[in-house]
Amino acid sequence: MEKRDKFTGMNSIKFNQYFKTDDDCKKYVADIKWEHGYSCKTCGNTRYIKGSKPYHRRCLKCKKDESPTAGTMFDKVKFSLLTAMNIILKIVTKKKGMSTLELSREFELRQKTCWSFKWKIQQAMQSSRQNPLTGEVHVDEFYIGQPEEQKRGRSKGEKRLVIVALEKVEDGVGRAYAQVIESAASEDFKPFFNNYINRDAVVVTDEWRGYSPLKKEYRHLKQVPSNEGKNFPEMHIHIMNLKGWLRGIQHHCSKEHLQGYLDEYHYRYNRRNNMNTMFDLLVKKMVENKPVRLITKRDA
Ligand SMILES: [Zn+2]
Repeated sequence: MEKRDKFTGMNSIKFNQYFKTDDDCKKYVADIKWEHGYSCKTCGNTRYIKGSKPYHRRCLKCKKDESPTAGTMFDKVKFSLLTAMNIILKIVTKKKGMSTLELSREFELRQKTCWSFKWKIQQAMQSSRQNPLTGEVHVDEFYIGQPEEQKRGRSKGEKRLVIVALEKVEDGVGRAYAQVIESAASEDFKPFFNNYINRDAVVVTDEWRGYSPLKKEYRHLKQVPSNEGKNFPEMHIHIMNLKGWLRGIQHHCSKEHLQGYLDEYHYRYNRRNNMNTMFDLLVKKMVENKPVRLITKRDA
């Protein structure tokens, strides 16, 4: 089998040299989709001939014609595949991503159209949860939204609580993850811990009692005084940057949308040292993921 060519460019010049037409993008998607062989979506047969259009494949048994984008997250997108790929490039390579407003200006699309495509991208940016954090892991929670100075456990109003975990490494921070949670109680912390933190990690939290019950599963968990965040400088900076980015990019977002933005932020953050692989990895994820539909219609 021929090895698939991966686009590793980081700017529009390289992009425009590589992807000149919509067909170039279809080929890219087809190469990913059928990288490990073809199997008809309708009957499962593995023999095919060329389909009616470029890069389509037609099943030899049931004669069904399949496009490269059918059954992927690019299915039924309201603009060309070339534009879709362009948007992905912008979102992964711009350090702060791009708001839907910026996207709509750049590509002359309705903001709502940009929003629903960006939402798909954010779905594809969700962590696979296959590589939990290890070593020394700091965990903290913070509020996004309304007044931030309230104590934990009080009425939340429009605020949303977010839990963050980050790997402390010798020269700073390794990877990080964040999740919207209901409350600062151990039962809400637990699924996040289980998804993102290795059991053998040396977890460090502040002295909030909600973390104590997790010592049963995380035997190296230790609680230290926060000293108003001074004992967790990396965490403090991470949260500041995350909040700053959120403030800049979206004016309003509901709880389920906030998670998308947290996923987007950490997708880029965790790959900040391998940026040239991000485009291909994300397109691959979008080809392999099933098409998704928006649950709510609220715009951000
Ligand atoms: Zn078939």
